[in-house]
Amino acid sequence: MRYICVYCGSQAGTDMRYRQAASLMGQLLVEHGYGLVYGGGHVGLMGTVAEAVLEAGGSVIGVIPEAMVGRELAYKEVTQLEIVPTMHERKARMASLADAFIAMPGGYGTLEELFEIITWAQLGIHAKPIGILNVSGYFDGLAAMIDRAVQEGFIRAQYRHFWVLRSEPAVLLDALRQHTMPPVRPWQGQSVRGELSDWV
Ligand code: AMP
Repeated sequence: MRYICVYCGSQAGTDMRYRQAASLMGQLLVEHGYGLVYGGGHVGLMGTVAEAVLEAGGSVIGVIPEAMVGRELAYKEVTQLEIVPTMHERKARMASLADAFIAMPGGYGTLEELFEIITWAQLGIHAKPIGILNVSGYFDGLAAMIDRAVQEGFIRAQYRHFWVLRSEPAVLLDALRQHTMPPVRPWQGQSVRGELSDWV
């Protein structure tokens, strides 16, 4: 089975459309034959997307650090709950299990996970497609910030295309299937692709 890693809020947000989009995303993953990899929580949009996948009969792998299990944040009914020692191991494990990544609305944790996985693509650590679900224009400001970073010479123009941004879950899944990641420059004269474990 192929898995998509979803990063999203541990809060549900103030607008019902975020929860509706998370639910629809979960259903569509199953309809398209994908399993879900995510942070293993039962709270916020994270819980909603996991619940939607399970209700549709799909497979959910949650990867959660020990400390969060202790605080009863884990979604214990997922298909497979992997408990790891640290946040860093969690993110590396989620990245290695997944064939593609989707960021949905969320806060610092979501944004950090999204930018880390984009940065790892830039370094050549992986070449897996990355999508952003722009529910209700939530990520408009972020896309504008990245465009500015390109204009100001901080991000290479071709690296703008590490990620695709779409407003509808079905359209985003189609775009991810068709997306080709831009090639990265050799890093320090070497081919940089390898196992994630070489890096993190
Ligand atoms: P945030 O966007 O700040 O709500 O953080 C959400 C992201 O950080 C998720 O994709 C998770 O991987 C991680 N995370 C933050 N809070 C939790 C939590 N209570 N339970 C599980 N994972 C969490």
